[in-house]
Amino acid sequence: MHTQTLAELARGLAAGAFSSRELTEALLARIQAHDGALNSFITVTPERALAQADAADAARARGEYGALTGLPIAHKDIFCTQGVKTSCGSKMLDRFVAPYDATVVAKLDAAGMVMLGKTNMDEFAMGSSNESSWYGPVRNPWDVRAVPGGSSGGSAAAVAARLLPAATGTDTGGSIRQPAALCGITGLKPTYGRVSRWGMIAYASSLDQGGPLARTAEDCALLLGAMAGFDARDSTSAGAPVPDYRAGLEAGLDGLRIGLPKEYFGAGLDAGVARAVEAAIDEYRRLGADVVEVSLPNAQLAIPAYYVIAPCEASSNLARYDGVRFGHRCEAPRDLVDLYTRSRAEGFGAEVQRRILVGTYALSAGYYDAYYLKAQQIRRLIHEDFRRAFEHCDLIAGPTTPDVAFDLGEKADDPVALYLADIYTVAVNLAGLPALSHPVGDKGGRPVGLQLIGPAFAEARLLNAAHRFQLATDWHRRAPQGFA
Ligand code: GLN
Repeated sequence: MHTQTLAELARGLAAGAFSSRELTEALLARIQAHDGALNSFITVTPERALAQADAADAARARGEYGALTGLPIAHKDIFCTQGVKTSCGSKMLDRFVAPYDATVVAKLDAAGMVMLGKTNMDEFAMGSSNESSWYGPVRNPWDVRAVPGGSSGGSAAAVAARLLPAATGTDTGGSIRQPAALCGITGLKPTYGRVSRWGMIAYASSLDQGGPLARTAEDCALLLGAMAGFDARDSTSAGAPVPDYRAGLEAGLDGLRIGLPKEYFGAGLDAGVARAVEAAIDEYRRLGADVVEVSLPNAQLAIPAYYVIAPCEASSNLARYDGVRFGHRCEAPRDLVDLYTRSRAEGFGAEVQRRILVGTYALSAGYYDAYYLKAQQIRRLIHEDFRRAFEHCDLIAGPTTPDVAFDLGEKADDPVALYLADIYTVAVNLAGLPALSHPVGDKGGRPVGLQLIGPAFAEARLLNAAHRFQLATDWHRRAPQGFA
């Protein structure tokens, strides 16, 4: 059962080949057997899962079921889950039990999904390797010496290792797409506003967006349909109706115009990754797509702009963790200032502290114009780049990451080297666009991902393209050794 996708499992449940309880028990056993090697879960919730599975089986017996009833999911530990620890990968929230469910969690619950647990992540979603988690790093199932990517690394590793078919993630600058690429699975970052941020612990609110990680585009389509939609509790939630993302999956790609930004194929791109990406583009040509060159002239400004804007927003969002209203409180504070400073110094890890310092500095009087305002101006230019590029193409394609997964510890002492892992992903968040990564090859046994970027609300187009690719190829079916 563990090798099947959500769509396949749904057919098995419908045919009565197995029950949700049997499926849930099998996957819980698999998590128990294999997660010691990966550390992809922070919390496993067997009792809640079995209760949800029984409820799903009972609902099905009554004839009340939908496409996702009884199917398993895990949530990145950034999504609040009522009655279950929601740590955000941080000591700061190690003892936080959310009093409510995030909208995404509530929606997937209402769709009948069975939550198996909460997945490991970089602390407060800051990172590209999952090494900043207070709960220890996650390992990449393709090679346990390698990082799984981040910040949704636990979700990506668990899905790649077939511990379960799908998980949620969030993407502020690449945190769904980059770990999907490094773990050889499919991940979709929706258009900003498409999926509610309510109950999703805030990192950089103008960039954060939740989305699905699964092995196939078809499964991402199923999940997005249930996750997306207007939410009055999120002031930036989009009102656009949610299409049936599965309806358009099978459409042919004849005449689809795919733009290749020349800036994404220059210096800095590993040759092995470039070869796999070019082979994938050739496959898209065979499927009927027309490939054109486009330009994103401000691409090189995306990282510097992102690493001003994201820390600025983070420094503001994380001000609430003061040991009084939220978060870890130090022992025996001498006075109020000691309580604040020691609680925050003890509760936050090094990378989070670095971001708070950078953000506070960039927002301070006298520096605001030079950094934050400048970064916002660049953000507008990047948005314009994409707008112009989409006058010549329907989708943009390129590598998701400049190289395959690196070794644990390899970039741990060099934050800037780590920030460059996001070079092809952060611009998409700055522009608020949807993008998807799907597996297209490997280098030395470590997966390569192709990134497809669409205009706002073109998720169906991205999913359609990736699904057709997956019908014609089998990269998404390959399993890491030891986890087949
Ligand atoms: N790696 C990027 C960062 O550290 C992106 C993280 C994310 O998308 N949450 O900010």
